[in-house]
Amino acid sequence: MTERTIFHQIRDKEIPADIVYEDDDVLVFKDIHPKAPTHLLLIAKSEEDFVPSITDLTDETEHVPQMLIRKAQQLAKDHGIDGYKLTFHVGRGGGQEVFYLHLHMMSQETFS
Ligand code: AMP
Repeated sequence: MTERTIFHQIRDKEIPADIVYEDDDVLVFKDIHPKAPTHLLLIAKSEEDFVPSITDLTDETEHVPQMLIRKAQQLAKDHGIDGYKLTFHVGRGGGQEVFYLHLHMMSQETFS
């Protein structure tokens, strides 16, 4: 069984996070150590969509990165953010620390 991560705990509301958006599929919260004025993390919520890292994607979970990217696009539109960066860190060598697939969304513009 895969180890539960801190993002599982945030997803399951076992520890607090600054959640800015949530629906049935996706949870979005502020990065605790922001590297830009807007620094959000997007994760898939359902256990079937759980993937530790891009490395682990399968035919069953290949829709997950696309779902996160589309949600970032929607959030940007809804919050008037024109320019932003989307990043997946992949593996320890790629700077990944939390092995629960997440999309970093960063912008020099403020999210409100
Ligand atoms: P990564 O290096 O892609 O695995 O990114 C993990 C990110 O999670 C880092 O930018 C951390 O600052 C962030 N992070 C770690 N713990 C928390 C937390 N409890 N709440 C919000 N963000 C967190």
